[in-house]
Amino acid sequence: MCEFCHKHGEGKKWYLQAEHYSEDLLSDLKRRNFIKDFFLHPEYLTEGEKQLERYKRLPSFVRAVLTPLLVGRQKKVHYGQVLPIEDVEQIFGFVSSIVRIPCICRQATVGTEQRYCYCISMVPEEESQFAQLIQEIDASYLTGPDTSGLEVLSKDEAITSLQELEKKGLCHTVWTFITPFVGGICNCDRSDCMAMRMTVTQDIPVMFRAEYVAEVNPELCNGCRACMRVCQFGAMAYSIANDKVVIDPLRCYGCGICRSSCTKNAIVLKERSTVPVAAGIW
Ligand code: SF4
Ligand code: SF4
Repeated sequence: MCEFCHKHGEGKKWYLQAEHYSEDLLSDLKRRNFIKDFFLHPEYLTEGEKQLERYKRLPSFVRAVLTPLLVGRQKKVHYGQVLPIEDVEQIFGFVSSIVRIPCICRQATVGTEQRYCYCISMVPEEESQFAQLIQEIDASYLTGPDTSGLEVLSKDEAITSLQELEKKGLCHTVWTFITPFVGGICNCDRSDCMAMRMTVTQDIPVMFRAEYVAEVNPELCNGCRACMRVCQFGAMAYSIANDKVVIDPLRCYGCGICRSSCTKNAIVLKERSTVPVAAGIW
C-alpha cells in the first residue's frame, strides 16, 4: 500500500474511499479557489515547463535538496497515482456524475484540445458543486474546435471511452485537488503529459505507481512485442534467445496498458504487495 493508503485510506486503497470525493471536502473555499486557479491559469503549466528545463541544469546536490521539497508540496496539493482500468471502473461504480473536459496539461504542452480528463463527483451532475465549478471556468480555456465545454457521460460511456484511450496507449491516473479530495481521472503519456515527464524522465515524482505489477506468462507469450510498443515506462525487454518478453518489476508502474495490447492474454497484474522486489517501490 502506498503512503496515501496509510495516511488517507486506513490501509486500504485511498482512491476507493468514497469520502474523498465528497461535497463536504469540496465546500472548502481554499480548495475551490485552488481548482478554479488550476483551470483558469494554464499559463503556469507553460511556465512550469520552462522551469523544468532550468531545473534539469541545476547541480545535482541542489536538486537533491530541492526535489523532496517539491514532491512534499505536490503531495499536499495535487498528486496522482497510476490506476489500471478495473480500479477506475470501481471508482465509476460509486460516483454519481462523470464530466469529460479537455486536458489542461495538453492545452499547455501541445496547444490542442484533447478530451482526456474526467471530473468525478458524488452527487448528480445538476447538483454537483464540482460540475458547477468546472462549468464556470471551462469556457475560459477552451481554444480548440470543440468548445462545447462539459460533456456529461454515463458510466458505460465513460468506461468505453477509457478503453479506447487505453488501446491508444494512454495510462489512467487519479488526481487530488488539495489532498485527499479526489477530483479527476486523467489519461497520461510520456510525450505530452507534464506530470508523467516529471515523474519518469526528471525523477521528480508527482504520482505514485499503481498498487500492481505486471507479469508475463512465458507459456502464452509468442514474442510479438506488441506490448513493448505501448509501455510508457520502459519496463519491458525482449529476450532474443527465448523469443519472449519479460517485465522488470522494478520499473513497472502497474498501469496494465500492455495487457490490453496482448492478444494472447499473456499479461496479468499482480498486487504489488505480493511481489517482494517491487512491494516498497512507489
Ligand atoms: S503482446 Fe503478449 S504475446 Fe506479444 S510479446 Fe507481449 S506478452 Fe508476449
Ligand atoms: S510493463 Fe508495467 S508499466 Fe509497462 S505497460 Fe505493462 S503494466 Fe504498465
